[in-house]
Amino acid sequence: YLIDDPKYAFLKDLGLEKKNIGVFNGKWNANGQVIQSISPANGKVIAEVQGASASDYEACAAAAQDAWHSWADLPAPSRGEIVRQIGDALREKLQPLGQLVSLEMGKILPEAVGEVVEYIHVCDLALGLSRSLPGTVFPSERPGHMLIEKWNPLGAIGIITAFNFPVAVFGWNSAIAMVCGDTSVWKPSETTPLVAVAVTKIVESVLKKNDIPGAVAALCVGGKDIGQQLVQDPRMKLVSFTGSTAVGQQVGVEVQKRFGRHLLELGGNNAIVVNEDANVDLLVSAALFACAGTAGQRCTTTRRMFIHKKLYKEVVSRLAKSFAGVVSKIGDPLEANSLIGPLHTAAAVEAYKKTVAEAVEQGGKIEFGGKVIEREGYFVEPTIVTGLAHDSPLVKSECFAPIVYCIEIPDLDTGIKYNNEVDQGLSSSLFTENLGNVFKWIGPHGSDCGIVNVNIPTNGAEVGGAFGGEKATGGGRECGSDAWKTYMRRSTVTINCSGAIKLAQNIQFGD
Ligand code: NAD
Repeated sequence: YLIDDPKYAFLKDLGLEKKNIGVFNGKWNANGQVIQSISPANGKVIAEVQGASASDYEACAAAAQDAWHSWADLPAPSRGEIVRQIGDALREKLQPLGQLVSLEMGKILPEAVGEVVEYIHVCDLALGLSRSLPGTVFPSERPGHMLIEKWNPLGAIGIITAFNFPVAVFGWNSAIAMVCGDTSVWKPSETTPLVAVAVTKIVESVLKKNDIPGAVAALCVGGKDIGQQLVQDPRMKLVSFTGSTAVGQQVGVEVQKRFGRHLLELGGNNAIVVNEDANVDLLVSAALFACAGTAGQRCTTTRRMFIHKKLYKEVVSRLAKSFAGVVSKIGDPLEANSLIGPLHTAAAVEAYKKTVAEAVEQGGKIEFGGKVIEREGYFVEPTIVTGLAHDSPLVKSECFAPIVYCIEIPDLDTGIKYNNEVDQGLSSSLFTENLGNVFKWIGPHGSDCGIVNVNIPTNGAEVGGAFGGEKATGGGRECGSDAWKTYMRRSTVTINCSGAIKLAQNIQFGD
């Protein structure tokens, strides 16, 4: 167990032990399967987490529903104050929590710390929101009447998260849901259970200090079975699901069957369009992070590049050179020198190998990479493929690994068309120096994605805007802007203070 190695002393700073309990409903108690958490950097077991049984889930859902009554009655600014304290508690544990994300998920330490920072930023955002949650008054057509829009909390909600952002995605949902007055049951990815336990311990410490029921933020570590139980549970007024499109589609249908609400954050197939007037220096620097960073395991990773014919050769060769420059910096994500860590699991390495082999079979040329790195852990080379058709099934599907397809385009319109021709609609980016092109790109006939960037990578969003994507990416929005609305129910209220009944549209009924 890596936890016994003094090199990983930060695990103990987070209150983790060799055997951990993965269920929290105000008390820590688990009766389900024991999950071994594996470090993708070396394939070794970090520590164990006992997951939830069906009856553990039941206890979590009941406790979260129960805790909701007192939580919803707390004024929103007081809920904001709790979230502020959670932000501060995260600041205190920034380094060890970042180190744990790096060890268990596999992303490099600066990105892992950045993920915790993202949760802190959302706490800040949610604190402001807690004092500014709007309610609107509309003019009524009837004298002595008032027309009001009132927002109320939903109740208990379910949060199901993916492995690749084991802290931030929970934070985006939890901080906003908490100020909105919802309680939650979190079902994290079964391959990042230690992060989930550590984060829940931090939240628990703040709730306890303020005498608030722990089940305001319940945790249920488990696999697909616990996820399905949550999805089918009518007590979960909203299911916020982050994960693959295939699973998200099933989740959406199941939640809809019971007329619950869902927020789906699913797969992407993100493109950079390089126009003939692009600044190539900017582009190459952005594309390196967008394609190879996080070993291709961001939902917003660039998987397709549509490059204007005038720049195509130059861009492919410069990109290959910059990929070559980082190969020596692929390594242990906790080491200061590393720029790229491993893939998350052995299965992800198999998926990478299969995709590279299929690309070659279909006539693709490997311009760079394509190989698994011979060392312990799940390391692969960032890979550039050329020669495949823009609409080949491989190019149109998401392989969660650092593989980018470079495709030549004759003009910007073609680039926009190719960008939009896939099922997914998460992120996109155009490189151009021309303002007219920018307006075309962000307009009705431009990119059809939820995230539409210019001269920056497709990945690395800030929390102030709404985050999410269209089409098979699910349509949900999280974080900033008005994403909070998904976590509340809206009542349109008409109040009559006139002392007389007057019908709308001046309808006369009876005397
Ligand atoms: P996944 O779909 O395999 O798993 C996601 C979560 O769903 C896990 O917690 C898993 O245990 C749970 N789950 C599995 N089957 C379930 C079921 N039938 N019912 C309910 N829950 C179930 O995804 P992953 O491999 O963990 O993550 C990678 C995927 O997530 C990629 O497709 C990536 O693009 C996507 N993602 C999207 C966003 C976004 O914001 N759009 C963010 C991060 C990741």
